[in-house]
Amino acid sequence: MRQHRVAYLPGDGIGPEVCDVARRCVEAAGARFGFEVRWDEQLVGGTAIDATGQALPSETLDACRAADAVLLGAVGGPRWDDPSAPTRPEDALLGLRSALELFANLRPVTAHAALAAASPLRPEVRAGADILILRELTGGLYFGRPQGREVNDGVESVVDTLRYTRPEIERIVELAFELAAGRRGHLTSVDKANVLASSRLWREVVDEVALRHPEVSVEHALVDSPAYLILTQPTHYDVIVTENLFGDILSDEAAAIAGSLGLLASASLGTRTTEGGRFGMYEPVHGSAPGIAGQGVANPLATVASAAMMLRWSLGEADAADALEDAVTAAIEHGPRTGDLGGSDGTEAVASFLLARVGQPQEVPA
Ligand code: NAD
Repeated sequence: MRQHRVAYLPGDGIGPEVCDVARRCVEAAGARFGFEVRWDEQLVGGTAIDATGQALPSETLDACRAADAVLLGAVGGPRWDDPSAPTRPEDALLGLRSALELFANLRPVTAHAALAAASPLRPEVRAGADILILRELTGGLYFGRPQGREVNDGVESVVDTLRYTRPEIERIVELAFELAAGRRGHLTSVDKANVLASSRLWREVVDEVALRHPEVSVEHALVDSPAYLILTQPTHYDVIVTENLFGDILSDEAAAIAGSLGLLASASLGTRTTEGGRFGMYEPVHGSAPGIAGQGVANPLATVASAAMMLRWSLGEADAADALEDAVTAAIEHGPRTGDLGGSDGTEAVASFLLARVGQPQEVPA
């Protein structure tokens, strides 16, 4: 039996409900494909603040460092919203990213035909769209220093710094080429090279790395162009790689293609390698949805899809990843639906459907 170790951080609001479904799906896949996961459950976010005074206690971070991967639910909620509080639940996310060197955020966006009505895009525009957005997560404007305000001769000014080192760009661009090679072989690198020095280095690095990956076709795009085309011609894109700020904006924009927040998964990959691949943190894109927490109505599909990415990228369990992805697709196409997808089924009904599917493969009815 292969053994894996996962730090399990359900967090706040609906986090525990959706993580529990993902955990059971992984266990069902383990029973079918011959592996076991040791789940190391830890506090994070608001619940961690209540118990320890810190959003990211040191035991939680230690458990993440000792694991092959982290499965995270969500953090935050009105209870911890006081802006003057010394610690906020969201501090845990930035803390995890920087402490675990999670430099690459992967967000797949797929246009399932069954959810055409849920997307604001016309069905013929979104049909067939399947994009992987790769956002650099630890550099750029969000981390560059100096940053702040000052007053000189009575005039107030502010500064943010957009700094990237060549190795920081190289590692994310290399990963983007590898991911594109495993998909349809097309990479779009997004920058603003007509204005920004950082973008000119970014473009140079992309061209250098491209020489090592002749199987991938690459195009450069100034960010204004995909900001428009991602919604008007989404099928043009396969893998998109870009720096932190552009990626933050484009990945949320692209979410409109999918149709529901309850479906979007994400992976944040680190620099450390594991026996099965690369260490990473996996979480749904949605938040803690405090308005529906504890009611048994949360959609678990985004978290199950995130767990599928964990199986693929960090645990090296590709068959199990396929099984979870197949179950999520089947649920979207003909399974029970939670309220966010226009249905009236509960979390447990979706869980039962997924577990039956993961444990025992069936033909998907045409
Ligand atoms: P949210 O994603 O929690 O909710 C937005 C809307 O989508 C709500 O109507 C919610 O009920 C619904 N929704 C979200 N996920 C759902 C699911 N799985 N099933 C069914 N419906 C779902 O965003 P928000 O309301 O802006 O934020 C709520 C809290 O979550 C805040 O404290 C925010 O800071 C936090 N948050 C955390 C993360 C994270 O942990 N990564 C991300 C975003 C927001």
